[in-house]
Amino acid sequence: MPFYRFSELSRKEMVSVAHGSVFVLPIGATEQHGPHLPTGVDAMVVTYIAESACQAAGEVTSVVVAPTLPFGNSHYHLEYGAALSLTPETLLHVRNDILFSAAQSGFCKIFILNGHGGNDEVIRLAVREVVRRYEVTAAAVSYWTIAESALTDAGLISSDWPVPGHAGRFETSLMMALRYDLIKQLPVANAEHRRGFVDYFRGAFYQEPHTQVGVNGYTDDANGANDEYGEKALSIITRAVNNYIQGMAAVRASRNRESVQTKYEN
Ligand SMILES: [Zn+2]
Repeated sequence: MPFYRFSELSRKEMVSVAHGSVFVLPIGATEQHGPHLPTGVDAMVVTYIAESACQAAGEVTSVVVAPTLPFGNSHYHLEYGAALSLTPETLLHVRNDILFSAAQSGFCKIFILNGHGGNDEVIRLAVREVVRRYEVTAAAVSYWTIAESALTDAGLISSDWPVPGHAGRFETSLMMALRYDLIKQLPVANAEHRRGFVDYFRGAFYQEPHTQVGVNGYTDDANGANDEYGEKALSIITRAVNNYIQGMAAVRASRNRESVQTKYEN
């Protein structure tokens, strides 16, 4: 059972694989990640996880991974500069359009893998809408959420290791594992950073002005980040995503191949 990249398939190949495959759309963001990490962190990390998980899932089921959507809702980063952001309204339209296109291309199992906190709300709206309009099964999750219990069991989440945070110890460790060459001098955190990510009111979505991304654009002290942690976390997350894809593959398809229209001749 193979793993495919959407962008490497011809239209004829797409017709033969779409109906029986899980379509995976990774989504990231392009935004400042403190003074020490590049703007592409979220897109790079989610691309790595999606590709690795899809390759592993491809050993037991058929899976097609789409090109990563590199832009997300990052407007609250604009005050720091270095962001390319879509408004939530635009982002929802973009998500809808891509998912509708996937449905019209013949896929009936759709999975969004998110790598940026600011996209979290919109991905669920997009799932509701594509399932309402098309005979498809769809799911969406952020990579840290899908792996939260496994990361906790492995001792990788604690008050010293807030997950995911923003450009703090966790993301810096992931980047050390993936692209050490892109990391600049780690900033010296202040007392506010050491206090950790604003988390007073667990259970509610809580925001304060000018602290939406912590202090000075990052949420917690990146010092202490290490590639060993990063590699361990990435492998646990990849396994959780792989399991989820295999679970979706096992769900019965919600529509017949005949209901998919294609309007061209080979
Ligand atoms: Zn990030």
